[in-house]
Amino acid sequence: MIKAIRGTRDILPPETGLWNFVESAVRDVFRAYNFQEIRTPIFESTELFARGVGEETDIVSKEMYTWEDRGRAESDKGQSLTLRPEATAGIVRAYIEHKLWDRGLNKLYLIGPMFRRERPQKGRYRQFYQIDAEVIGPPSSGSDSAARDAEVIEMLATLLDRLGITGWNLQLNSVGCPNDRDQFNAALRKALEPVVAKMCVDCQRRAVTNPLRVFDCKVPEDEPIIEKLPRISQFLDEPCRKHFEEVQEILKSVGVPFILNDRLVRGLDYYTRTAFEFTHGALGAQNAILGGGRYDGLSESLGGPPAPGIGFAIGEDRLVMSLQEAAESVMKKPDVYVAPLGAGMNRDAARLARELRRHDLIVDLGDENFRLKKSFEAATRAGAKYILIVGENEVKADAFALKNLATGAQVSVPRGELAQRIQETL
Ligand code: AMP
Repeated sequence: MIKAIRGTRDILPPETGLWNFVESAVRDVFRAYNFQEIRTPIFESTELFARGVGEETDIVSKEMYTWEDRGRAESDKGQSLTLRPEATAGIVRAYIEHKLWDRGLNKLYLIGPMFRRERPQKGRYRQFYQIDAEVIGPPSSGSDSAARDAEVIEMLATLLDRLGITGWNLQLNSVGCPNDRDQFNAALRKALEPVVAKMCVDCQRRAVTNPLRVFDCKVPEDEPIIEKLPRISQFLDEPCRKHFEEVQEILKSVGVPFILNDRLVRGLDYYTRTAFEFTHGALGAQNAILGGGRYDGLSESLGGPPAPGIGFAIGEDRLVMSLQEAAESVMKKPDVYVAPLGAGMNRDAARLARELRRHDLIVDLGDENFRLKKSFEAATRAGAKYILIVGENEVKADAFALKNLATGAQVSVPRGELAQRIQETL
C-alpha cells in the first residue's frame, strides 16, 4: 500500500469543514482591515530564502526541501529551487517585482501550504498550512509606524475572538534595530564565553554563529544559564524604545491584553523591533498558534527599495486543532436526504433536489434502485435531518412525504412549501 509521506497528511471531511470555516472568517476579518489576497508560487529560487530568511536559521540550514532543476532550456538547468518554508520572502519578492507600492497595495495576505523538514510530532508537520499577512510599503506610507504593529496585533485578537478561541496569550517583545542587536550580540558573546561549554551542542553552535538564537533553546539543563544572560530590552536605543512603548499604549487603549517577554527573539534574521507570538494552552508542546513581527530591512536585503513592514504567520493546522471543540456546530450535515423510490423516480428526485438546493439547503440525493430501508440507512449515515420520499404516488399528488429522522414525525408537504417547511424547523 502506498501511504502519504511522513510528516504530510490528508485532511479529510468533516475536518475540512473546520478549515473552510477558519478561512472564511479570516477573509471576512482581514477584509475589514483592508487586506487583499495574494497567491505566490509554492516554489521559488533557493537564493530567495537563503537571503530572505537567513543562511544561519534552522529553516535554511537544515529544513528546506531543495532540488536542482532539470529543465531542458539552458536558462533552467541547474537552477536551485526550494519549496517555500514560509510566506514572507515570496510576498516581499512579489512586492519588489511588481512594484506593488505604485499600485498602493500595502496590505496583503496569503493562505497556503509551507514545507519544512522538521521532526514530525503532534502539531508539527513537514507540509503545514499558514495564514500569513503583511503590511509593507515605502516609509512615506507610514508602514514603519507603531500604529501598524498595533493594528495587525489587534486584528489577530479580533480573529481569534471571532473563531471563539479563548484562553490565548499574547507575548510581546522588541528586538530593536541592527545597531542595538550588534551591541546585544557582543554582550551575549561575552556572557556566553565562560559558560557555553556546559550548554547543549546546538547552543554551542549558536554561540558562534548567532548567539541571539540561544534564547530558542528548549533544553531544560540550559535554562538556568539562559536565565542569567543579558536581554535585548537593555539595549534598545531611544527610537526603538519609543516605538515599542507606543505599540503597547495603543494595545492597551484598544483593550488587547499582552505579556512582555524579553526572551522572545523569533527564529528569523530579518526581524526588527516588534516581535510577538500568540500561544494556546490546549495545544501541548507545540503551543505557538502564530508568530510575527517587524522586518524593516528585508526589502533592501532582497534588492528592493526601503519598505518597512510588519506581518505574521498563523499555523492553520494548530488553529484548527484549538478549535476542535467548536467542531460540531461548524461541520454542517445535510438538511434533507431525497430518496427516489422505484423505477423512473431519479428524474423527479433530481428536479426536486435542484429546487431545494437553490434555496440554500444542503441536499443529499439517493438512487431509485435503493429499497426504502437502504435509503433510510444512507440518510442516517449522512446525518441528514429529514428524508424526503419521492415515489410515484407523491409525484402524482405533487406532495411528498417528509420525515424527521430524529423524532420520526412524518408529514405530507406540497412541492411549493417544501423548502420553507424544511428551513422553518431547522
Ligand atoms: P514561523 O513561520 O516559524 O514563525 O511559524 C509561524 C507559525 O506557523 C507557528 O506559530 C506555528 O503555528 C506554525 N508552524 C510552524 N512550523 C510548523 C510545522 N512544522 N507544523 C505545523 N505548524 C507549524
